[in-house]
Amino acid sequence: DIVQIRRALISVSDKTGLVAFAQALAARGVEILSTGGSAKALRDAGIPVVEVSEHTGFPEILDGRVKTLVPQIHGGILGRRDLPEHVAQMEQHAIAPIDLVAVNLYPFEATVARGAAFDDCVENIDIGGPALIRAAAKNHDFVAVLTEAAQYEAVLAEIEAQGGTSSALRRRLAGEAYARTAAYDAAISAWFAEQRGETFPTRMTVAGTRRQALRYGENPHQAAAFYVTGTRPGVATARQVQGKELSYNNLNDTDAAFEAVAEFDAPSVVIVKHANPCGVASADSVAAAWDLALRCDPVSAFGGIVALNRTLDEAAAEKIAAIFTEVIVAPDATAGAQAILARKKNLRLLLTGALPDPAAPGLTVRSVAGGFLAQTRDAGRVSREALKVVTKRAPTAAELDDLVFAFRVCKHVKSNAIVYAKGGASVGIGAGQMSRVDSARIAAWKSGEAAKAAGLDAPLTQGSVVASDAFFPFADGLEAAVAAGATAVIQPGGSMRDAEVIAAADAGGIAMVFTGMRHFRH
Ligand code: 5GP
Repeated sequence: DIVQIRRALISVSDKTGLVAFAQALAARGVEILSTGGSAKALRDAGIPVVEVSEHTGFPEILDGRVKTLVPQIHGGILGRRDLPEHVAQMEQHAIAPIDLVAVNLYPFEATVARGAAFDDCVENIDIGGPALIRAAAKNHDFVAVLTEAAQYEAVLAEIEAQGGTSSALRRRLAGEAYARTAAYDAAISAWFAEQRGETFPTRMTVAGTRRQALRYGENPHQAAAFYVTGTRPGVATARQVQGKELSYNNLNDTDAAFEAVAEFDAPSVVIVKHANPCGVASADSVAAAWDLALRCDPVSAFGGIVALNRTLDEAAAEKIAAIFTEVIVAPDATAGAQAILARKKNLRLLLTGALPDPAAPGLTVRSVAGGFLAQTRDAGRVSREALKVVTKRAPTAAELDDLVFAFRVCKHVKSNAIVYAKGGASVGIGAGQMSRVDSARIAAWKSGEAAKAAGLDAPLTQGSVVASDAFFPFADGLEAAVAAGATAVIQPGGSMRDAEVIAAADAGGIAMVFTGMRHFRH
């Protein structure tokens, strides 16, 4: 099943590695056919090359829109060498077999990415390239197809070792080739949808490139892999500086932590366990923010994922390394901080180089049986100005700061979410309960435990503010928060029983503001 290469067609927009690759083929006596720009690059490098137009006797026409779309080329790729009729027809029409096709496509994605005009994008839709790739991939029994420079090496290695390509390699390349043309068409289709202002076109392809095979999924009996789909700074674009291999759960939790910490302007720390924050704080330094975040729930923080929105410095690294931590993610880390963490061999350190924009548009997808749900990401952020005071008492300036902070934390806590905060730090988080009042009680109870651990008499929620990700359907949730010592409340409002809830707040001397915006997260 070894196919010797006698004739190769090379037509590439990205000319990376082209000369070396062609040189190696030419050195083995391979005849190289090539299109205008690629042929010129090869000639300039002194490599013998035959222009496709010379080979076919038909010129490139229509500004290069038609270069290789001719029977001599497609027949040479598609003809089966083991069928006498195919061989006879090829001879009859003077079609020479082509054994290797190296094509990379017009840079459509890059053209769109640099914000080119509509017509320029259209002109960068490659027609002949995908046809060559799909033809060569179909006839992989006889033809090797290469769609990126990264594949040149493997093909040359086989030619070197055994005089031709193996069927195993050709099949692998064929599969990769169709993945490439599928992604290319998906990008074109997504661009057309975008041009029409359509967020949700009739067909949606979630196209990603495998970054990593994972040891397993959420559980050891599940298989898993990690795909990159874009450029938003975060887990998918981060550089792992040290530590054990990341697991599926690590990646999921790290994403939750980093997206949360990016919400805050001041130096901040978020500690995540099982995709929920168990401590969030902003302070003058990340080291100070760490102390406050840890105080919220030191028991849960054990084995947590820690995200910073500033460079990790030595002071913070010493403190974080003092407890068992699975992952630290930050935009950057000082050399001193890295040296401190290097003592903890297993601890994973991820550096992203940048923070994601919390207000940036984008889509999120989640699978359901037989399909997936797509929605625009929750880029909502309430501003102080948008808050509506609904109680007799208005919040103080300090309460207002904490209210906005707490509501922003709420956005990253699974519903029903109740977050108590004080002095720029969460002091009690109730997550993922089926009843809102339970979330309020759990948050307060955990805060009491945290206070005991810190040797304090009063629970941390004493004198705090409280945020709820959705409205209180009854007064009981608010009453639980008041009982825990909260003095101010932030919530979307909009319940049938708002009047009852407001009355309960007034009765307790509580200040309450409505956001008009909900932050469910499931
Ligand atoms: P070159 O730089 O060699 O002139 O052109 C290389 C590019 O042309 C490659 O990206 C290849 O995919 C593309 N290409 C090859 N044949 C055709 C064709 O017949 N029509 C179009 N539109 N593009 C082609």
